[in-house]
Amino acid sequence: MKFDLASIQFRLTSGIVLASILGIGGISGWTSYRMQQILIEGHKQNAVNIAQRFEQDVDLYEEMMPSREALQRVINYRSTADLAIWIRSPDGSIIAQSDTLSMGSWQQDNFAQNLIDLPKPEDALTIRRFQDRYLVICVSTLRFGNQVLGELYVVDDITQNQRSFNEVTRTLAVSSVLFVGFAAVLIALYVNRSLRPIRKMNQLAAHVSASNLAQTHLKLDNPPTEVKELSKTLNLMLERLSEAWEQQRRFVSDVSHELRTPLTLVHGYLQSTLRRCRNLTEPQREGLEIAASEADRTIRLLQDLLDLARADGGHLRFTLEPLQLKDFILEVVGMCSYSSDQVMAEIAAPYVEVKADRNRLKQVLINLIDNAVKYSDASEPVKVRLSQSGEWATIEVCDRGRGIPMADLNKIFDPFYRVDEDRSRATGGTGLGLSIVKTLVEGMSGKLKVQSKLGEGSTFTVSLPT
Ligand code: ADP
Repeated sequence: MKFDLASIQFRLTSGIVLASILGIGGISGWTSYRMQQILIEGHKQNAVNIAQRFEQDVDLYEEMMPSREALQRVINYRSTADLAIWIRSPDGSIIAQSDTLSMGSWQQDNFAQNLIDLPKPEDALTIRRFQDRYLVICVSTLRFGNQVLGELYVVDDITQNQRSFNEVTRTLAVSSVLFVGFAAVLIALYVNRSLRPIRKMNQLAAHVSASNLAQTHLKLDNPPTEVKELSKTLNLMLERLSEAWEQQRRFVSDVSHELRTPLTLVHGYLQSTLRRCRNLTEPQREGLEIAASEADRTIRLLQDLLDLARADGGHLRFTLEPLQLKDFILEVVGMCSYSSDQVMAEIAAPYVEVKADRNRLKQVLINLIDNAVKYSDASEPVKVRLSQSGEWATIEVCDRGRGIPMADLNKIFDPFYRVDEDRSRATGGTGLGLSIVKTLVEGMSGKLKVQSKLGEGSTFTVSLPT
């Protein structure tokens, strides 16, 4: 799969995915932060409460027993497996401590002793990480009357809770990543699906050409409103283009038709004057001959234009009939030999028959042979080869003439395109021949191809279905 960083699909998908990452990441982060705060706050509050009520508790017990014993009672009463209490006198010795300190996990790695030996924290209430454990430490001064007894340490081991919390955070992070990944795939598929009408429109528009302009109409199934509007506008544009094209075609057709008739008359008069008048001076005869040949060239040009305009409008009629290509080619080559002895036929498939319009195919071959003769030396042969490959009959017109540059190969079929304007004009061509050849061949369901190498010659191949 190819990623196009500039595509709408990529931009939309990455934008939405980024927004989801920010949204989900933000929510997860905020939730974790709040959970941790709530967890720690509870423990902190508990430690502070114990410290604040400690003196009161001791007072209560003192009524029933000696002070030392009362202290120990309160400490043991308030201690739990995870919460230890001790009292350090101003001289640093431990006055009393909870029994839990000498039990269970507090004894691992000499933890309890190391903890008691720690210097007094600066803050009265701190969260501290010590020997891989998380602790809430609350230190307060313990007084009885005016006398300072020492520092009361209430230490809550919240390691277990913190680990559970870390586990929850990790699970939350992993599920967020998985969710975003899954959402990204879904979003990419959804965006891809939403852009389908645009792609379809692009495909339809890519196939619009002068020949199918009138029939092309962009039709989309259930497109989004914006795309629907766009396709409507495009359809209107296509209609207008089609009308303009039709007008131009009609104009060319009418003008060609209107000019051809009087010009044919002029040509006829010139020819008959040339034939009948015996007393013409040489310059007069030459002038009339030039006028007649130019009139003839212009008539052919007008006829070509008329044919092209008719073909564009779909008004060119073909009378398809079974045609034995061998006889037909020999006949055309025979006709061409009157004007040039370069042309020769090579028949590799003597029995191949096609359905074609005899006159149109003749026009095609004469045009191709005429070009081959025009654009090659008189000493070089022009071969017309007939062969068959599969379902196709192929007629090749090969010359060893000047060839066509690679860059021009697919332009020579455009109307009025000539490879070398000056040289082509000198040969008397109009630049319409190959456009007509292509139109005629395709009109008979055939294909036209060209292969050429500059300076070595060209081969035009007409393929017709057998
Ligand atoms: P033209 O009437 O000028 O020959 P065409 O449409 O028949 O117009 O051909 C278009 C251009 O293609 C020509 O001007 C010529 O440059 C080139 N061309 C056509 N056939 C050949 C060929 N057999 N050898 C070399 N160039 C050719």
